[in-house]
Amino acid sequence: MTELTIISASSAALPREPFLGRHFIGGEWRDSPAGETYDRLSPAHGVHVSRSALGAASDAEAAIVAARKAFDSGVWSRIPGKARALVLLRVADLIEENVERMALIETLETGKPITQSRNEVSGAADLWRYAAALARTVHGDSHNTLGDDMLGIVLKEPIGVVSIITPWNFPFWILSQKLPFALAAGCTTVVKPSEMTPSTTVMLGELLVEAGLPAGVVNIVLGYGGDVGSLMTTHDAVDMVTFTGSTLVGKTISAAASKTLKKVALELGGKNPQVIFPDADIESAADAVTFGIYFNTGQCCNSGSRIIVHEDIADEITERVVALSKKVAFGDPLDPKTQVGAIITTQHQGKIDDYVRAAVAAGAEIALGGGPLVVPGLGGQFYQPTVLRGVTPEMAIAREEVFGPVLSVLTFRTLDEAIALTNDATYGLSAGIWSENVHTCLEFCRRAQAGTVWTNTWMDGFPELTFGGMKQSGAGREIGKYGFEEFLEIKTLAMRVGRTRDNWVRD
Ligand code: NAD
Repeated sequence: MTELTIISASSAALPREPFLGRHFIGGEWRDSPAGETYDRLSPAHGVHVSRSALGAASDAEAAIVAARKAFDSGVWSRIPGKARALVLLRVADLIEENVERMALIETLETGKPITQSRNEVSGAADLWRYAAALARTVHGDSHNTLGDDMLGIVLKEPIGVVSIITPWNFPFWILSQKLPFALAAGCTTVVKPSEMTPSTTVMLGELLVEAGLPAGVVNIVLGYGGDVGSLMTTHDAVDMVTFTGSTLVGKTISAAASKTLKKVALELGGKNPQVIFPDADIESAADAVTFGIYFNTGQCCNSGSRIIVHEDIADEITERVVALSKKVAFGDPLDPKTQVGAIITTQHQGKIDDYVRAAVAAGAEIALGGGPLVVPGLGGQFYQPTVLRGVTPEMAIAREEVFGPVLSVLTFRTLDEAIALTNDATYGLSAGIWSENVHTCLEFCRRAQAGTVWTNTWMDGFPELTFGGMKQSGAGREIGKYGFEEFLEIKTLAMRVGRTRDNWVRD
């Protein structure tokens, strides 16, 4: 362990008082009716970060009714796209003005490094700006060739009231992949952040008021999935649910929403492979593998948690990744030098370790790490950078989402074999290919069952590039033009010009 790069407790000041979060319903900040609250302790420091109103079904009901009323009033859904865009642009500016305070609480609630939180909060402003631009692009089609007496028009309209349910791993970023797009389309919303990371969502509520968003257009309810989230997926007044989280909960939501046939968009888990051919730029590939597995402590839907390496270079790549892993700075998230922070809960830390123990029992070999990490001066939960070689496709660690800093190394001999291993998964979120041969890259890209395929890079993303999963990684798409269109309903108009049609009823 001493050969790792560990950043011990920093001298950064911790908050003396917790951030107080309340529900935001119909334009008002509200406590839960009986004043119930719940607390969040930071996973790295054990400090009391936030105290939030503990929502119940009655709070979700009030929020849904407020969103429905606001939608039906037309105060947001029927104003010009330009007017909506101006509000979203103001929100983007306000996010940028509040990066420091939002990044600090994001880091304390999630355990992610402060530099990463700053990038995520400031980067989210760009999502709001992109969505603002899209607000002015909504248009349907016209059909002028149906005959002299007929004009057909296809309108795009906001889908209505949207429930937005988000996870703990990228609280503000994922909210910003959904909310500004729903708002740009003219929808109204009820938002439920993860119970573990509610505070940046609440802070955003404050900014929405400052930006002039009408009351009831965005409503925020804090609390647990069973108490608050389930009504958001079953209520008659909700038209669509957009959810990011685990595949297990995604299936529950899909089943619950089917009773009222709501539209459901799901962004779920992944078991994402990077495939490396012998002609690849090995230095860049090894660096991207190291980034892909440790970014956000591996608690990332896009975690590059398995690599599929040509057997001729498997030892070389493994050794390079092990050497690079030792240089990655794990430790106190509040130190700007830290690249990898804490694990979200002690239970999750135990789950990661169970996967590693099971893999070793099944015959995998630990090339690095393989256990909890002690960060001097901090009592929170951390896990060592871990590389496992000799992993075979049937092992759980090769198939299931570990959600930790644990890399599995598998090998292949031919392109067909690499593609078969890539697609031998219930998930289909993202995949990567490393080769200097364009034909190899293109064939892999076409045959990989994944919503995103990165070529000679990993995890590059842009607001313009639509994101989402195949197979059990999800349904529907997020961001980009296609993500925006998820929030639009289509209406067809058939318009007769003049009284040219013979009556159906004969005299
Ligand atoms: P989770 O599924 O446990 O919880 C996500 C949200 O759902 C939380 O707000 C939770 O309170 C709520 N919820 C729980 N039960 C519910 C129910 N019955 N009805 C309605 N809401 C309910 O996920 P998590 O642990 O917060 O996040 C980690 C998971 O998210 C991982 O599987 C990861 O891969 C996935 N994820 C996917 C993407 C993507 O874009 N594909 C991005 C980030 C995270």
